Amino acid sequence: MTVRNGTPKTGTRGLIFNEPLLWEKGAAGRTGFPLPADDVPQAPQPNGAADKALDFPELSEVDVVRHYTRLSHWNFSVDSGMYPLGSCTMKYNPKTNERQASLPGFAQAHPLLPEALSQGPLKMAYDLERYLAHITGMDAVSLQPAAGSQGELTGMLLFAAYHKSKGEKRTKILIPDTAHGTNPASAALSGFMAIPLKSNDDGILEPSSVAELMDEDTAGIMVTNPNTLGLFEKNIREVVDIVHSKGGLVYGDGANMNAIMGVVDMKESGVDVLHLNLHKTFSTPHGGGGPGSGPVCVTRAMEPFLPVPRIVEKNGRYQFDDDYPLSVGRLHAFYGNFSILVRAYSYIRSLGPELKKVSQLAVLNANYIKEKLKDTYHLPYDQPCMHECVFTDKNLAPLKISTLDVAKRLMEYGFHPPTVYFPLVVSGAIMVEPTETECKADLDAFIDAMKAIAAEAESDAQQLHEAPTITKVRRLDEVTAARKPILKG
Ligand SMILES: *Cc1c(COP(=O)(O)O)cnc(C)c1O
Repeated sequence: MTVRNGTPKTGTRGLIFNEPLLWEKGAAGRTGFPLPADDVPQAPQPNGAADKALDFPELSEVDVVRHYTRLSHWNFSVDSGMYPLGSCTMKYNPKTNERQASLPGFAQAHPLLPEALSQGPLKMAYDLERYLAHITGMDAVSLQPAAGSQGELTGMLLFAAYHKSKGEKRTKILIPDTAHGTNPASAALSGFMAIPLKSNDDGILEPSSVAELMDEDTAGIMVTNPNTLGLFEKNIREVVDIVHSKGGLVYGDGANMNAIMGVVDMKESGVDVLHLNLHKTFSTPHGGGGPGSGPVCVTRAMEPFLPVPRIVEKNGRYQFDDDYPLSVGRLHAFYGNFSILVRAYSYIRSLGPELKKVSQLAVLNANYIKEKLKDTYHLPYDQPCMHECVFTDKNLAPLKISTLDVAKRLMEYGFHPPTVYFPLVVSGAIMVEPTETECKADLDAFIDAMKAIAAEAESDAQQLHEAPTITKVRRLDEVTAARKPILKG
């Protein structure tokens, strides 16, 4: 099949491997390596367990390597093409990070070794905390939380602990309608009631709406800045002042930090607690359900509540310290997802002051796409954006083409679809975040593909409704796929 009306530069056509389950593939007697003959007497097994043959597949090493390599080709990844998934910062993960994380001193460090034998890993974690504090402008950091959402949960526990220390129990948290779904979930999980806050016609927070809802029963507000429309919250200082004046706290969802590293001082902007997503901004692997990391950065006033243990330095020696009586406790075993921390450390050390350029380029790339596509796709907020821009399917609606059709067809042009139907305040949203790691030629290829699809909406709507036809699976019944997944290849 040819891709019409466009240059099929990076299309998804080509080999698609069929691959059976390991059980179907194996054959009795195959092994990866030979074991020496059994030369000890069999011990009796409880309940005749030895008689029951375990249903393990029997395979050679080549079988196993090919199986997983073939399965890996079913996935689209940042290593195979552009992945402009808005709000997710799917940036390239530099391979030097992997190299540093596999250094034996890190990779083979046993978490139960005494501190005296773990000085290198402890110093790395300590320095990473200092770097993240420097990058955000905040005072103290805990690397324990394993995801952005767990960082939010930590933040909400910190809010509760702070108010408790003041002899107060506040019950509500303000959450803008542009927030990521994890924000209200984290607030609810920590026992707060999430109060929705409407953004204004420009897609940002209006101080008067905050003033209307903010009272002395409200623990604070969760603000994502830049927000999930890719817009900078210009009124942040006024919002902060309103919340602080009622004794509330400001939570910064820093998942979008990729737009503002080295540019915005988060403490200066009034944030009390902020999480970062190392698997977004700091180039550690993202997706596939693998380990993430969501460090929490706080002001000096919030530091006593941070999770324990903390890493402290005394006379050049690094050690864990549990002696923080107001702490919310432990959030993760040991000290977070350690090997992910090494990767983020490697990224920061590779770039140093150039991190600012990362954000500048991420913003430039998003604005380039916005300007190039805004005559083709409806742009609900026509103003300079930060790291991502949001279009809709409004122009295509008369042709009966939806955001979903565009997303599915993009796969045939070789691009991972952008985030769709989020944020919820934009009907039919198509949210594009190219990141700084895409070059102009690749941005242009994406723009060409988006334009070609808009042209197809006029000339060949049927093709768009049927897409994708050349991928491993066609258009899925997503509800049934989620409710009754069939995992067999
Ligand atoms: C990704 C994201 C989160 C949640 O982070 P996870 O690491 O996926 O738990 C929260 N807020 C925003 C704005 C995000 O983009």
